[in-house]
Amino acid sequence: MSLRSDIARLVESTPLADTHEHIMEEKLRLEPADGSRLDDFAVLFSHYADSDLQVAGMPPAEFRRAMTRGVPWEEKWKLIKPYYQASRNTGYMLSVRLTVQKLYGEDDITDSTIERINEKVRDLIKPGFTGHVIKEVANIDHCQVNSLERKVFCETEHPDILLQDIGTPPLISNWRDEDIWHMAGVSEVKTLQDYHRVIDGIFAKFGPRAVATKNQMNYSRRLDFAVVKAEEVASIFERSLSGAELTAEDNKAIQDHLFHYCIDKANEYGLPVKLHCGYYAGHNRMPLHILRYNGGDICNLLMAHPKTRYVFMHINYPYENELIAVCKHYANAYADMCWAWIINPTACVRFLKEFLMAAPVTKILTFGGDYRMVETVVGHAEIARRGIAQAISELVEERWLPEKDVEYVVRRIMVENARELFRVGEKFGI
Ligand SMILES: [Zn+2]
Repeated sequence: MSLRSDIARLVESTPLADTHEHIMEEKLRLEPADGSRLDDFAVLFSHYADSDLQVAGMPPAEFRRAMTRGVPWEEKWKLIKPYYQASRNTGYMLSVRLTVQKLYGEDDITDSTIERINEKVRDLIKPGFTGHVIKEVANIDHCQVNSLERKVFCETEHPDILLQDIGTPPLISNWRDEDIWHMAGVSEVKTLQDYHRVIDGIFAKFGPRAVATKNQMNYSRRLDFAVVKAEEVASIFERSLSGAELTAEDNKAIQDHLFHYCIDKANEYGLPVKLHCGYYAGHNRMPLHILRYNGGDICNLLMAHPKTRYVFMHINYPYENELIAVCKHYANAYADMCWAWIINPTACVRFLKEFLMAAPVTKILTFGGDYRMVETVVGHAEIARRGIAQAISELVEERWLPEKDVEYVVRRIMVENARELFRVGEKFGI
């Protein structure tokens, strides 16, 4: 047996912890309130692949038509086909194609397979399909979900598979949202102290059942959350509550203060703090001049809360080398390769190799599908497994990693690091 095929088999049979998803609750897929659920092949192109189609030139009106329920599948395929051809080389499209292979047993999406794929997509969507896809098809240990349908925390119908994050952006930027006050059991907020009680209430209610906190405010601002004391922002906060418009500077000061308050709370409940770091979903909107400061900005967070375990997501792509330096240097920094495998698969192979030569093996999490639709998690997990197997094989062949360490490293990076960091067995009994 060759080394490469032995390692590939080991990686194939090892369950993969999935530390970041947006998977929709199954009931929303089965009985959508708004009737917008896609139940044909277009669902495979509806998230991430949608960006590559449009960046390859698909006009927005054509894209919207292809994603509309009820439009005949033949017409949708005619619209999508030229742009699939133009972008089929990318990680996003490879993920779609590997999903088609592993989940539906077809080699590729072509004129001759599209009708069968369309039927198979529809047939799969029935009660119980979420667990089947995650456990039996993708061999995933558990998923960690940041719900996009719920404001702060999702009471899932699958608590044994879909562990949930507490989403902190609404707590930090929507302090006037009475729904959030009420969720925490606070009827009125007049002062910053009252609002602290809202955050306390949210953590008391959801903290014991949450797996982590998650924040994606890097989509709208730098991660330069300064340490701002309560007394410095108390009066601005009260002005804002009474309806006054805040300057950008005052708004940032309140966000900064509230984010650090949430970090302290996460620590109190033993929750790691996940931060979106780097590349933006979507297209035609990413300001790289904000993201290029991430490496330095997160150092300040790490030093401000040395006992907090931070998870920096998406390898901070395209500034992933800086994240290696950060995770090597700070005991409380962890890198998460979630989403990154489909953004740029070969950069991820290089990243994983370099990370393992620089930082302790315990500091990296290697997978998160980051999809809303469970189906495409299958293709993404396959890309991650191929990449992990390639990186480990190359390190052994290049004589950086002793062969006798392979089994330990693979189990650590694929599943044990995540289970340990998020206390999965102890807290959730799975
Ligand atoms: Zn995400």
